[in-house]
Amino acid sequence: MSAAPRITVVGAGFAGLTALRTLRRHAPQAELTLVAPRAELHYLPGSIWIPAGLRRREDLVVPLQRFLARARVRFVQAHATGLSADARMLQTEAGEIANDGLIIASGARFLRKLPGIEHAVIPCDGIAAGEAIRDRLAALTGGTLCFGFGANPAEPNAMRGGPVFEFLFGIDTLLRRQRRRERFELVFFSATDQPGKRLGERAVAMLVAQMQQRGIRTVFGQKPVRFEADAVQLEQERIPSALTLFMPGLTGAAWLEATALPRSPGGLLAGDAHARVAGVARVYAAGDGASLPGPDWMAKQAHQADLQAEVAARNLLRELRGEPAQEAFRAELVCIVDGLDRGMLIRRAGDRAQAWPPLKAMHWAKALFEKQYLRRYR
Ligand SMILES: Cc1cc2nc3c(=O)[nH]c(=O)nc-3n(C[C@H](O)[C@H](O)[C@H](O)COP(=O)(O)OP(=O)(O)OC[C@H]3O[C@@H](n4cnc5c(N)ncnc54)[C@H](O)[C@@H]3O)c2cc1C
Repeated sequence: MSAAPRITVVGAGFAGLTALRTLRRHAPQAELTLVAPRAELHYLPGSIWIPAGLRRREDLVVPLQRFLARARVRFVQAHATGLSADARMLQTEAGEIANDGLIIASGARFLRKLPGIEHAVIPCDGIAAGEAIRDRLAALTGGTLCFGFGANPAEPNAMRGGPVFEFLFGIDTLLRRQRRRERFELVFFSATDQPGKRLGERAVAMLVAQMQQRGIRTVFGQKPVRFEADAVQLEQERIPSALTLFMPGLTGAAWLEATALPRSPGGLLAGDAHARVAGVARVYAAGDGASLPGPDWMAKQAHQADLQAEVAARNLLRELRGEPAQEAFRAELVCIVDGLDRGMLIRRAGDRAQAWPPLKAMHWAKALFEKQYLRRYR
């Protein structure tokens, strides 16, 4: 490796920024370049609190200029658009960028194949989705609110359900606080009888019990067929809906289609247990947009993206030094499913699947974690 290898990171999300921090820590001389559409971190886990007014856009968008200066990272404001066959030249809207090593962390995108999907708010579709939910809810005087999530049929774990539970419980709490819960019916629908089963059986039982305690109607075992402006059509039942929140399954970033990089059955960037992209030298993948081997419960979540990104960065540096790059990332699921008033801690690692009943302290722990996590980028 030259004393100053040129390393490009694509994406300024959790995985991309963790990769940059890890690279800088272990390779003080490396020339680091970040390619992303904006020099901003969007802290999406906090968007669950936008409808209740506990967070605003400016709380969750962290400008990265100071972090980039501290970490001595050159920023190229552009989308990646392609990659040369040997992967050493990244094509972007701002021109070509040569690299000795590449980490791809450009996230995932939602499958939008279900008819009428434009009638549903996709709650994970950025901060604007949280704002749309807040505004639509404020304008409603009553009615039925429907919540659900889907999967990528070609890749079962390319999905995310946790935030739907958070919006569901959070909106229930919010409406109670506003003393208008009785004017709304909340319905949670799921194609399976065990929604969110990757969280573990105990967690699913607790989530479903929480729905019952909160008076949320559940419709299990029916797939959504179509969304309409004022209804959700399931296989056997049509539910009138004043507001539908639906999270479809995930697939890889669109720009990957312009590359020869290997893709998983679900369209994500295919890599191995060392976060290395198969068949190309010195290209690594991390985060939601990567399909890396792991247990069937491995989640598309920020914590997992961070674990993958650290290993991707260290293995890339090893490969650049001509050393074996065999560190494997750890699979671990940790989340607090927040309901505005209390949060439920869930953890999976190895054979253990743990879940604790909802606690007020966990709501505050989630907020504290956010504050501490973001400090490193402010
Ligand atoms: C409402 C909500 C609640 C959540 N709650 C939790 C939680 O409690 N705990 C948890 O661990 N996770 C949670 N998550 C999931 C977490 O936010 C994601 O798993 C995480 O954002 C994935 O990180 P990433 O870096 O892979 O992708 P992203 O954060 O999506 O970042 C992708 C980056 O790539 C950039 N990009 C996209 N295309 C290109 C391109 N062509 N060229 C260059 N750059 C590009 C994007 O602009 C972005 O900067 C939640 C998500 C949501 C939406």
